[in-house]
Amino acid sequence: MKLILLGAPGAGKGTVAKLLTQMDGSVQISTGDILRGAVAAGTELGKKAEAAMKRGDLVSDDLIMGIMEKRLQEPDCAKGFLLDGFPRTIPQAEALKLLLAKLGIKLDMVVSIEVPRDVILDRLSTRRTCSNGKCQAIYNVKSNPPKKEGICDKCGSPVVQREDETEAAISHRLETYNQKTAPLIGFYEKEGMFVRVNATSSDAVIAAIKNKLGK
Ligand code: AMP
Repeated sequence: MKLILLGAPGAGKGTVAKLLTQMDGSVQISTGDILRGAVAAGTELGKKAEAAMKRGDLVSDDLIMGIMEKRLQEPDCAKGFLLDGFPRTIPQAEALKLLLAKLGIKLDMVVSIEVPRDVILDRLSTRRTCSNGKCQAIYNVKSNPPKKEGICDKCGSPVVQREDETEAAISHRLETYNQKTAPLIGFYEKEGMFVRVNATSSDAVIAAIKNKLGK
């Protein structure tokens, strides 16, 4: 399947994407994961993105489109992809539309996962992430802690609070979402194939998506 997952930080896009990849071999493409991997590896891309990410601002549309133009042409995308955290601005959505037309790719659906702000704030402030740029497994100190405190179950690296998940950075990211990303809902409503899902459980989101796709 070829989906865009829209939603504020903490809405559950990554969790839903991971569950969907198990259904049909579609790949999750998270621009946030790609950028954090680049920052951890100290690449040119990482150096360009790091300051904006720390502040909770968006990195430039050009940088993101450079990443996505290459990523969508990699062979593992042929089976399908779940775009998680991209597009994030109207110019990105417009550039994606042109890119997909150029590559002859048709999206199945755009899903907006909508979760109340208090749930998002609670989730983000209790979320912890594996510091290994190649792993980036997600934990939650309340609902899904690692077996050994502070250590990733999957790769043994330290599990940390992301620098952009302090209270100040979270509220800035939510503001950025409202200003720059929420307008994509109107954009995709006009494009058609848009679905809004109000659900705090990832299983309920998956069920709604399957239902819409007729799977
Ligand atoms: P995320 O993990 O999706 O919340 O992304 C973490 C950070 O990476 C964001 O706060 C932005 O600084 C940056 N980022 C990720 N995806 C994008 C995007 N599509 N456009 C601009 N910045 C992005």
